[in-house]
Amino acid sequence: MRTIATWPLDAPPPPDVPAEFRTPCTRVGRDLRHLPADARLPDGAHWELSEEPWSGFLLGLGGTLGLRYTLEVDPYLPPGPLTALVAEQVQDHVTGYEFLQWPTCPGHVHLLVPAPDPDDGERAWWHCRRSGRPLVRIGDLGAGPPATA
Ligand SMILES: [Zn+2]
Repeated sequence: MRTIATWPLDAPPPPDVPAEFRTPCTRVGRDLRHLPADARLPDGAHWELSEEPWSGFLLGLGGTLGLRYTLEVDPYLPPGPLTALVAEQVQDHVTGYEFLQWPTCPGHVHLLVPAPDPDDGERAWWHCRRSGRPLVRIGDLGAGPPATA
């Protein structure tokens, strides 16, 4: 396995990261700034992209305390579906291993659900689990007043 790059969660990927990963990692990393008020990720949490000869790209969260998951990613997905996939994997990791609720639906207590935009392959949204409605574009958490469901 060859590590291509590691970079901070909320920073843009370095130039050697393939372009396909720029939108997903930038947008999901930006949303990771909006953790619950008393929560934080372990020190040194970062993105890690590596390449496997047979299975392709592995994207992961790495950290000095061993925080880690890897996701076999298909970089040929359009940006919207790839962003939703990365958001879902990161959410699974953060809720399952760090025991953080991220991100929480405004006005409800459940988690938001990531999904690609059915009409626009460039975009993905956080949805309310109850109403099924898209509330915030992935990457824009905290950017404005939440839509009321
Ligand atoms: Zn909701």
